[in-house]
Amino acid sequence: MSETTPPEDCLTPGLYIVATPIGNLGDITVRAIDTLRRCDGVACEDTRVTGKLLKHLGISKPLWRYDDHSESRDRTRLVESMRDKAVALVSDAGTPMVSDPGYRLVNDCRAEGIAVTALPGACAAVTGLALSGLPNDRFLFAGFLPAKDKARREVLEELGAVDSTLVFYETAPRLVKSLGAIEEVLPNREVAVARELTKLHEDVKRGLPSGLKAFYDANPAKGEIVLLVGPPPEQIASAEDADAMLQDALRTMKASQAAAQVAKATGLDRKTLYARAMELRGQ
Ligand code: SAM
Repeated sequence: MSETTPPEDCLTPGLYIVATPIGNLGDITVRAIDTLRRCDGVACEDTRVTGKLLKHLGISKPLWRYDDHSESRDRTRLVESMRDKAVALVSDAGTPMVSDPGYRLVNDCRAEGIAVTALPGACAAVTGLALSGLPNDRFLFAGFLPAKDKARREVLEELGAVDSTLVFYETAPRLVKSLGAIEEVLPNREVAVARELTKLHEDVKRGLPSGLKAFYDANPAKGEIVLLVGPPPEQIASAEDADAMLQDALRTMKASQAAAQVAKATGLDRKTLYARAMELRGQ
């Protein structure tokens, strides 16, 4: 009996972008299993992680470590191999290229006329968005927030102006700092923390950044996290209305408290209202 794969079982040569589960191993598609079974080899971020998934599926294949920082000659070799081999690209979890490697490989395949196809599946950003209940008619996925305070604030200031839900990936140790930055820059926005999606301890908490920050300060988060920031609230007051409300509030409270109260009631920006409250006080 021949040891070689029967020809009818072979896949057409090229690159197959294959999504894998983000926690629950049941979230792999029938087509993904079929492709992993019939491909000639799997390019992956971490051969141990992918080895475990293949073992769970009862599949044994050559595994090639790949990331976008691999030497360009390694990538060239991999692309060349696809002239007569079917290569599956997977990441450790979810959809390759969503905050994961693959972009350069796909680009090079296209440039070399190699066939590329994608098998959709799990993605933490989309799962978190769906589960959060935040508006999803428009959303902007922005990967991980920067680790440095100033850069993180700048990104939030820039993206905060966009009229859509913002979706970020986050790590447990950085969650409280990020919530603090959101509280500072976008204090009136509804936020959702979606943790451990598809896993046993899946959890979604929603609220204002100040409340969530206090909660996770007291109860440090564990596991993997998608952090979502709802769109700017509808502005329900004109500048004249806001002035009248500020003047009313300033009779009994400090400028900062007046600004916070009017911001909460109107959805207008607290810092802008504070500056206006100080002006009104000086008049
Ligand atoms: N490519 C993956 C995808 O399609 O979702 C994302 C890879 S990115 C390197 C890893 C980040 O995705 C984690 O740090 C976390 O923010 C998010 N993530 C992955 N799995 C998750 C899960 N089960 N629950 C919540 N967030 C998850």
